[in-house]
Amino acid sequence: MVQAITGGCYGDEGKGKITDLLASKADYVVRFQGGANAGHTVINKYGKFVLHLLPSGVFHDHTVNLLASGIAFDADAFFSELTMLKERGVPTPKVLVSSHAQLLLPIHKRQDRLEEERLGKDAFGSTLSGIAPFYADKYAKRNFRIEELYADGLKEKIVRFCEDKNTFFHAFYGVEHAITVPEVSEYLLSVRERLRPFLCDAVSVLQEAVKNGKRILLEGQLGSLRDIEHGVYPYVTSSSPLAGFASAAAGIPPYEIRSITSVVKAYSTCVGAGPFVGELFGEEADELRKRGGDSGEFGATTGRPRRMAWFDCVAARYGCMLQGATEVALTMLDVLGYLERIPVCIGYTIDGQLTEHFPETHLLYRAEPVYYHLNGWKCDISRITKYEDLPEEARHYVAFIEKQIGVPINMISVGPERNQIIFRTSPLANKERL
Ligand code: GDP
Repeated sequence: MVQAITGGCYGDEGKGKITDLLASKADYVVRFQGGANAGHTVINKYGKFVLHLLPSGVFHDHTVNLLASGIAFDADAFFSELTMLKERGVPTPKVLVSSHAQLLLPIHKRQDRLEEERLGKDAFGSTLSGIAPFYADKYAKRNFRIEELYADGLKEKIVRFCEDKNTFFHAFYGVEHAITVPEVSEYLLSVRERLRPFLCDAVSVLQEAVKNGKRILLEGQLGSLRDIEHGVYPYVTSSSPLAGFASAAAGIPPYEIRSITSVVKAYSTCVGAGPFVGELFGEEADELRKRGGDSGEFGATTGRPRRMAWFDCVAARYGCMLQGATEVALTMLDVLGYLERIPVCIGYTIDGQLTEHFPETHLLYRAEPVYYHLNGWKCDISRITKYEDLPEEARHYVAFIEKQIGVPINMISVGPERNQIIFRTSPLANKERL
């Protein structure tokens, strides 16, 4: 049984918590795209953790955590995250890395920084983790697959890589000798030795696991609207956070993914540049930002204040559709408990025309939100564990959103901790899940 957990909007929806929760029943948790550029926050008996690269199943001793071929493998981030877990008393997790994954190198991070500086006011607001330069090199076929570290021809490839990079750095940034063959060789050789115990033929491991009926959780990073294919290009990530991509990136047949849980939060946030319909400013934004998440809506990787908005049905409906979501986990419902009335964006007006359809990116800049106001519940719901015990207004809010996005909301998160979750039987058809 294969289940994907993905972000239904702009990311930071609380996927870490939901994955950690579902990982308790999973045999494998697989990260299939992205790198150490996002942070998944997990709070459990060991404390509070922000995982950047490791799958969120690392706190369960029965779970194999696999980094699949689609990821940007930053070896430095990988080893420092493993060390951090050890230092904080987490038992050594079972971790495997696909030999098909590619290495994100220090030069990619440097390129990311120089590129953002070059773009100046037009910068993307990158996390400077090297993701875009990494994927550019991967698709230009000049980068290093991990398996190549153990194969003939490595030396020649390093020479070519350095020539390419030096030419590019000179032309674009005026930097001479950005990278040298001895320094890249030394780095790759050190990674080669340290990485050996973690490597696996991930396709065989996962195909075998599928055949044996193991429970596999595919963990997405960021969210639908950051998808390179269908997101708000160019303010997107350089890979695809969609469940559909997970099958290719992990090497699992697409029809084996039986359940797609999209995580959506009860209001909207986004980080970085680009259009964001209905963005709030001033006190209204500050209040929501301060109350959001477990300690305010600030980037888990960068610490940057997140951009805030009310729940956007147009964006969430589009995001869940892109994922092919079979169910939704609605998070952060507790955060809205301070509001008398809660605005929900149910449509956009663009040049005077009303639409419920998520438009082309350039039109988003002209889109004005159309709000429907629901009654707030004005109380703390963070200790409620049964759906029927939620105040009527909160149940109405959930049902309203569910109707708007057209996907069953089967889980409602009312706090950052693992047990702050309400399972619900949706009136919409329930699909399989772990
Ligand atoms: P992810 O990248 O999608 O995993 O999301 P983040 O890690 O950026 O963010 C979620 C933040 O909200 C973290 O600080 C979580 O501990 C916290 N969180 C998750 N679910 C809930 C919830 O239902 N209520 C509240 N108040 N906080 C939550």
